[in-house]
Amino acid sequence: MAYKIGDECISCGSCAGTCPVEAISEGESHYEISEDTCVECGACAAGCPVGAIVAP
Ligand code: SF4
Ligand code: SF4
Repeated sequence: MAYKIGDECISCGSCAGTCPVEAISEGESHYEISEDTCVECGACAAGCPVGAIVAP
């Protein structure tokens, strides 16, 4: 399991820099989290301005 980014994402990019394992990258329609890389630390969710990142 991993944190997920929803359609609310406005592609601001701030979450990518907060991930300690670089699991976040820009996807086709919004930013995405690599399920295999995410260690579920929650750091990204706390900083998203629109609350687009949800826990597993
Ligand atoms: Fe990265 Fe942690 Fe967010 Fe997973 S929960 S994408 S490891 S910052
Ligand atoms: Fe999208 Fe939130 Fe990440 Fe910004 S911080 S790119 S709005 S998920």
